[in-house]
Amino acid sequence: MSIISKEPSKRKLSERERQMQQEVLKRFRSKVSPSLGKLVKESEAVAKQFIPSPYEALEFGTEAPFEEGKNNHGIYGLERIYEDRAVLTPYFECSAYCRYCFKKTRTLGGEAKRMSDENIDAAMRYIASDSRIKTVLITGGDPFIDAELLERVLTQVVEIPHVRNIRVGTRNILFQPEAITDELAEMIARFNHIDYENPKNSRNISVGLSLNHPDELTPDVIRAAQRFISRGVIIRGQTVLMKGINDDAKTIHELISMFLAVGIVPYYLFHCMPVVGAKHFRTSVQKGIDILRELSPFSGSTAPHYVYVTPIGKHRVGPGHHLDYVEIDGLRYIKAKTPYKATDFLEFSDNTKLPPLHEIDEDGYVISYYLDGDDNELEVLA
Ligand code: SF4
Repeated sequence: MSIISKEPSKRKLSERERQMQQEVLKRFRSKVSPSLGKLVKESEAVAKQFIPSPYEALEFGTEAPFEEGKNNHGIYGLERIYEDRAVLTPYFECSAYCRYCFKKTRTLGGEAKRMSDENIDAAMRYIASDSRIKTVLITGGDPFIDAELLERVLTQVVEIPHVRNIRVGTRNILFQPEAITDELAEMIARFNHIDYENPKNSRNISVGLSLNHPDELTPDVIRAAQRFISRGVIIRGQTVLMKGINDDAKTIHELISMFLAVGIVPYYLFHCMPVVGAKHFRTSVQKGIDILRELSPFSGSTAPHYVYVTPIGKHRVGPGHHLDYVEIDGLRYIKAKTPYKATDFLEFSDNTKLPPLHEIDEDGYVISYYLDGDDNELEVLA
């Protein structure tokens, strides 16, 4: 039995908050799967991630913070910004909607789209044509909701000899643990391949599981995860840093210790993206650095990679990192030289110009401006 942190708050909403909640409900749909519904009733940390909040009506951020500046090579469901990775989204729907989702305006709009056979064939031709692509990330929505489509995609991906690493991103282990059957885990494990004679021909498939709070590691979730782990499929745990949910070292430490205890490899701690309706979740970037500093005395295996994400790519920050701030239109941005060359980004993303809030420095690297959050307490909106 997991230890539930705190019951959901029963605070009455103010009149203004009730009005704002109505606006939010009109704009962003909400959905909670039956398995998750039970947990939402028990845990405040889980409830905050799925129950629409009036604070979502506070305008902040952009509609699609990650998509800006990408053309996707004209193929629905394909994305690329890095040299060695391509991203596929075969099925764009989730069985619950996270309020902080960086695809919020699309996912929470209930846009259930599938890659057609033509889209899949075109994406495969694109990946096969560039031997620099070693990793294919299959994401969503949630790829595990349509296992038949996922299997079709995987069957074609493994035909491409230079792809060595396949990662499937999911939250469905949390949303619908009952849907993670032995058959599904078996199907995924079948795509692992070790070539002992010629290791360069080996291929690994792994799962990236997003969990944000220790309360989410329920017995059913652990059992579902074990279906993969016991078949040799690595699960990497990734977490979004969110105000009032997990923005303290104790919670992150406990979550990561529990990951390690049940066989999940800690991977990323993401700063919450600047998407509209997520202002109330967003801490400062510095907050995550401070948390990692507090985790520094512990074993190295308890330290995830802390990153914030821009349309150009991930920016890794950590203890000792100095952030440069600039003010634009009254808001605080973090200015940073990225490790990404502008020419590379334009080639991989199939674009002719950089996204807004990005520029090129004298060495040809991209300078990015990332909207910071804050660590102010949330106030009752009266
Ligand atoms: S599981 Fe991922 S894609 Fe789906 S709503 Fe949550 S954050 Fe968005």
